[in-house]
Amino acid sequence: MLRDEDRIFTNLYGIHDWRLAGARQRGDWSGTKDLILKGRDWLVEEIKNSNLRGRGGAGFPTGMKWSFMPKASPDGRPSYLVVNADESEPGTCKDRDILRHDPHKLVEGCLLASVAMGASACYIYIRGEFYNEASNLQVAIDEAYAAGLLGKNACGSGYDFELYLHRGAGAYICGEETALLESLEGRKGQPRLKPPFPAQCGLYGCPTTVNNVETIAVVPTILRRGGSWFAGFGRPKNNGTKLFCISGHVNKPCTVEEEMGIPLKELLEKHCGGVRGGWDNLLGVIPGGSSVPVLPKSICDTVLMDFDALREVKSGLGTAAVIVMDKSTDIIAAIARLAHFYKHESCGQCTPCREGTGWMWRVMERLVKGNASVEEIDMLLDVSYEIEGHTICALGDAAAWPIQGLIRHFRPVLEERIKNYRATAIGRSQAA
Ligand code: SF4
Repeated sequence: MLRDEDRIFTNLYGIHDWRLAGARQRGDWSGTKDLILKGRDWLVEEIKNSNLRGRGGAGFPTGMKWSFMPKASPDGRPSYLVVNADESEPGTCKDRDILRHDPHKLVEGCLLASVAMGASACYIYIRGEFYNEASNLQVAIDEAYAAGLLGKNACGSGYDFELYLHRGAGAYICGEETALLESLEGRKGQPRLKPPFPAQCGLYGCPTTVNNVETIAVVPTILRRGGSWFAGFGRPKNNGTKLFCISGHVNKPCTVEEEMGIPLKELLEKHCGGVRGGWDNLLGVIPGGSSVPVLPKSICDTVLMDFDALREVKSGLGTAAVIVMDKSTDIIAAIARLAHFYKHESCGQCTPCREGTGWMWRVMERLVKGNASVEEIDMLLDVSYEIEGHTICALGDAAAWPIQGLIRHFRPVLEERIKNYRATAIGRSQAA
């Protein structure tokens, strides 16, 4: 159980001053120059020691990702850090809270992470709809420049560093790192084929690392308290603290920082006042944003909230957006709604995703009514497997997995819906 003094984010609900003066009182920007002067190798090693894994969904080890960046560019190309603030995954609202109420953690993190990777500039790509968040972040950036914390000789360290905020235009696919880079370069936001990976050829053809907001915002605290401090929380390979954003049928939806690996039941009961109507009224939970499979109550009873524990039960931590559904939920309609979302957000580049997401949505709409045959359930599953792993980016997988989870755990509900529809239709025709 995480103690208050171990929390990195102490202003998630904006009860304290989010401006530079308030941030400094909470310890931000303290000793930043000394950290920079420890040098690039020390910074990367400390993040490796912390076992920090990317908080955007994929969970790739951050220190290793940073070490892919070239030590020196042989042809003089600059290196860049790009921060993905295009938070658009349904159910996810953790980065928004950092951007609104703790923006200096992110700004300082941008500087330190850039030093670690030899990047002279960082671009923060923020979701277009995040007007207030962009406003606060721009104020924080301006304050940091005015205080000499950014720009030439940042923090008096001798390191020259520029930080830019770029607003997106409201496309979910721009949260995919290479689509984000395309958009940042002024083109239509469509994912690129990999390789080359961004660390070789990213923004403007230069070595680039793309990291999530939370990943970068925890960096200053980890460096100040030490990698081993962060690694002391959680379970092996699933270390540290983590922001969980919990929505749906709980008594008190919230965003909260907790230790990785906390049992799901404890997370909901300790911070959210429990499931509406009590734990026995739980139907299922989507534990990591809309892109991961739903879990039934029987698994929710004991599952731990980290990357590997959730993978073992064929789901995922994703963005750690916990969507709770009680027994009043029409689970077929809920997953059909997600199917519509992915059909709508597909960029249309690859056939399995472009055609498959529309196909799955249309079948799901019929299944909501029950107007389908039982054989179509397996056909739907087959189509989801044809999409999974056969597309340029992970949106195809993200569209397939919720449907796979529905069929894996709620097949009897689907079959019952079909049976009832048929019985009603037969009754209608006999009455006529
Ligand atoms: Fe576009 Fe979908 Fe292909 Fe991704 S998987 S590139 S969103 S069509």
